[in-house]
Amino acid sequence: MRDYNTPERIQEMLKAVQTVAAQECRIIRCPFCGHRNFEVTPGSVGYVKAKCVKCKQEVAYNLVSMRRVTVKLPG
Ligand SMILES: [Zn+2]
Repeated sequence: MRDYNTPERIQEMLKAVQTVAAQECRIIRCPFCGHRNFEVTPGSVGYVKAKCVKCKQEVAYNLVSMRRVTVKLPG
């Protein structure tokens, strides 16, 4: 069985926490009840699946389509 709690892993995790804390995260809320489910960092892509702890609804998010997009018109 693999040990997931090695000092290296904990160190890595703490580093990630600090990195994320320095970024402007987007708060993802449950579309059903508005409960704050989790936060994503600006560079996040792909899909995330989560179960709301409050209303127990399972939701999936497409992080790409939720990203704020600036459209530049030609000319
Ligand atoms: Zn909810």
